[in-house]
Amino acid sequence: MSEPATAPPLRPPAEGGLKAGSVDDVLQKIAAEMAARWGAFLCGLLLFNDASKRLVLRGCVGCPDELRGRWHIHAGDGLAGAAFAEGVPLHSADVAREVGHVPVEQFFGQDADAPCAEVAVPVLRGEEGVGVVLLLRWKEPFRPEEINGLRADVARHAGTLEMAKALYMAAARDESDGRRASDARSRRTVRGTAVTPRAVAFGVSSVVSRERAGDLFAAFRDRRRTPPPPVRTFDEGVDYTIRQLERYQEQIGERLPEAARLLFDAQIMILRDETFTGRVRKAVAEGDDIAHALCDAALEFTAFFRGSGVEYLAEKAQDMEDVAFRLLGNIYGAEAHESLAGEDSGRILLLGECFPSDIFRFAHGGVRGIVLIGTGSTAHVTLLVKSLGIPAILAEDAELLRLPDGVPLVLNGPTGEILVNPDKDVVRHVEEAVRKTRGVGAPGGRARPETLTRDGARVHLLANVNLLSEAGSAVAANAEGVGLYRTEFPFLLHPALPNEEDQVELYGKLLDAVPDRPVTIRTLDVGGDKVLSYFQSTREENPALGLRSTRFTLRYPYIFDQQLRAIFRAVQLRHRADVSIMFPMIGSVEEFDAAVRRVDYCLETLGTRYALDGPVARPAIGTMVELPALVHLADAMARRAAFFSIGTNDFIQYMLAVDRANAAVRRYYIPHHPAVLHGIARVASAGVRAGIPVSVCGEMGHDPRFLPFFLGLGIRHFSLDPDRIAEVQEAVSRISLDEASRITARLLTCETVSDVERILGRPADDGAAAQPSP
Ligand code: PEP
Ligand code: MG
Repeated sequence: MSEPATAPPLRPPAEGGLKAGSVDDVLQKIAAEMAARWGAFLCGLLLFNDASKRLVLRGCVGCPDELRGRWHIHAGDGLAGAAFAEGVPLHSADVAREVGHVPVEQFFGQDADAPCAEVAVPVLRGEEGVGVVLLLRWKEPFRPEEINGLRADVARHAGTLEMAKALYMAAARDESDGRRASDARSRRTVRGTAVTPRAVAFGVSSVVSRERAGDLFAAFRDRRRTPPPPVRTFDEGVDYTIRQLERYQEQIGERLPEAARLLFDAQIMILRDETFTGRVRKAVAEGDDIAHALCDAALEFTAFFRGSGVEYLAEKAQDMEDVAFRLLGNIYGAEAHESLAGEDSGRILLLGECFPSDIFRFAHGGVRGIVLIGTGSTAHVTLLVKSLGIPAILAEDAELLRLPDGVPLVLNGPTGEILVNPDKDVVRHVEEAVRKTRGVGAPGGRARPETLTRDGARVHLLANVNLLSEAGSAVAANAEGVGLYRTEFPFLLHPALPNEEDQVELYGKLLDAVPDRPVTIRTLDVGGDKVLSYFQSTREENPALGLRSTRFTLRYPYIFDQQLRAIFRAVQLRHRADVSIMFPMIGSVEEFDAAVRRVDYCLETLGTRYALDGPVARPAIGTMVELPALVHLADAMARRAAFFSIGTNDFIQYMLAVDRANAAVRRYYIPHHPAVLHGIARVASAGVRAGIPVSVCGEMGHDPRFLPFFLGLGIRHFSLDPDRIAEVQEAVSRISLDEASRITARLLTCETVSDVERILGRPADDGAAAQPSP
């Protein structure tokens, strides 16, 4: 059963080339930490080599050093190989007794006769195996809760292990290439839609796409570009860049605790490792200049990662490009920054299809604005950019992605325009405006403590929080609480699954930031346009209709349970009685009941798992209403859920079968479609009849045209972006309930979109409102 039992004799190295460097050190550190944490005398990190199809021992404490890089097994061999092949943790209570003749001198030391427990936990990237972690300890078997904890521990390191694996493989293979060129110099204006309508920005273009990075590197490699004199040596540049990235980590950690320190770990590892930097040093020693040597090496590595055919390795190319760009900029100084999009050049990022984590990877340092190309206004990348307060515009013109770097751009939020190569006077004007507003939308102001309609009905305005930094904005705006905390953002920003402890800290920070107001935490809502880049099974042909949200958490109960336990522990530690939870994308009574059962299971088992200083109260449990199915089940749901929260972003998407993230079908995404209004009306009436609170937490809540409709339906709770609360309060105070009921009744007689528009007027953003042409 046990793989050490079949420990083979030393073999020649399974992969050659990699010098002892910081990858080894990082792995040793991880192994040592894990051994200490789990009381193990041996911890081995085995990484899978896609070429040799073997698991190679890379990090190890408790076994001889010379086995590292040499000892290897086939997937399927022994406990470790089987755990890797099956993708599940395996354990054995007594390896020594079971196996009997283990070659223990190498591994087990003198205590060879004592019972020896073993556990092997696969390191997964989604369902793709990166490697396996093996632990051995004396006497005490690994209990199921420990194995769960260990699994989370391993998941936390998965990103680092995966990068280590990529670097080891890169050390043993060849190059390839790829490039493309583009150009555009003319002055022009591109129409888009502002994400931050109050903001203006000026900067130079910096296209973030794989082809573009290839262009620049290829230009150096092919000697088409002569580098300026370097201002730093290569080694100075490497040190400088490491310090710079560490500084970013700190800054981001302060501003965005959930993105925390992990974002640049992979890049720092590349710089510390000999595999990449050694190649550049060698070429420079042989007479090449740094720019060419660096670009050649970066191209080789990125081509290898992309050509590997393994999706998660292909992603590593972005880290490699990003760090090589930065290094080039730092070595060649300010002049090169201009063309190399270094940190101080005042960049406006032009981003094609991207993940939320890409926003952080690129949107730091001197980023002044972002143009999102081909993204819908309620896509999560868009919501994230908005949360960050970076001036941003959505555009559909893919030609923007062909702009060279360094072209002057103005983002004009109020008109939704992007000016390419703007006139000097315009630039002066914009720079003046930016100086006054400091480049971000003017704060929305502070609302009064109570929101009342014109005739005195009480309305509650709460805040949507995506990033922890917004919890402070919610309090500053005088939100009555947090109506929707989107817990998926930390999951999207982390390079690996956040474990339970990470989450206890995270939810604790949220609760501490909003100490005296109710908070509604939504359980994990991933899938759709919220792809966990490290969890491949969330990548699907048709993700919006796939394993999303609560379907995902019910499919992976250990992820769900960890989150629920983390929420309850954070709540219990603070003795809070005002925290509710809700489930996203519920489509049936059974699904809601199944999610509630997980809550009850976690609550029941919490006390025995942790020494808690008191019982854990069951929170109010509500449901998001996002699927048309719930329109027809609204009464049944209202009998079960403590509250409804209508997520109009998805409700529209699913009611009208329009991808909310796809700019190409934006004209079909019509919030005022009669079917949408009728659906919302049925849900709200069921909630009101059952006497449960009904709130709106999607983007429709921000549009003052819909307020009378919602109020007329009896909806009294809204969860809004913090900077929109004061303005919605103002709009509510101008509406009387009588008038609202009349408008609602009229709207519910409408049969066509134009009928609705005759009552509400056309939305400001024509593109989204226009009816499809026949
Ligand atoms: C919604 O769908 O309206 C909603 C609030 O959830 P999200 O935007 O996070 O999908
Ligand atoms: Mg939603």
